[in-house]
Amino acid sequence: MNKFQILVVEDDIPVCNLITTTLKAHEYRYLTAATGEAAVMEAASHNPDIILLDLGLPDVDGVEVIRRIRSWSNVPIIVISARSEDTDKIDALDAGADDYLTKPFSVEELLARLRVTQRRLALMQNTETKQAVYQNGQLRIDYAVGCAFLGQEELKLTPREYKLLCLLAQNTGKVLTHRFILQNVWGSSLENDIGTLRVFMTTLRKKLESGNDAAQYIQTHIGVGYRMQKID
Ligand code: CA
Repeated sequence: MNKFQILVVEDDIPVCNLITTTLKAHEYRYLTAATGEAAVMEAASHNPDIILLDLGLPDVDGVEVIRRIRSWSNVPIIVISARSEDTDKIDALDAGADDYLTKPFSVEELLARLRVTQRRLALMQNTETKQAVYQNGQLRIDYAVGCAFLGQEELKLTPREYKLLCLLAQNTGKVLTHRFILQNVWGSSLENDIGTLRVFMTTLRKKLESGNDAAQYIQTHIGVGYRMQKID
């Protein structure tokens, strides 16, 4: 039996059945809730390892459910949204969700998102004691010195690129929205700054992804933001 317990919050019965059948087949333990109120209660009383949360619920708005759960818990939350709810998805990520699935999604996508989240959980447990050095694949950040390296080579980063890299590293596995990155690196979230962010990201990636392992560290989520991936 997989030791991970998943709370599935979904009011659409066929979608809920698809998810729970998949979870059962892959030996995950699970709980279900069909409303926002029930979701908050189940989360509080059973302490699940991961929450799969549909954003369109009949009672409480999914984003509000995230805010309530985040007031006491860091449990990874993967939101499930319809394509028409793109802005809700971004609000959900800003409210503290970790990742998202867009309906309709395949069983493979669902399992892939769960694996990413399980890796993120493992990482969170390892970094609870704040480490002075970040290591991911060939990328190493020495926070005390304020330098980043790719293998033995020091990366020549501007202060802003370094800040951007640290923010992504500290949230490895989590999708960060444009708004969140702009607020944390530039101190503003003006819509037209997304262009500036894109330019910085292109330069940073060029420096970061030039190593001989050709690893892709930063994943682009079009219209949403970016994620630092854990490299095996
Ligand atoms: Ca729904």
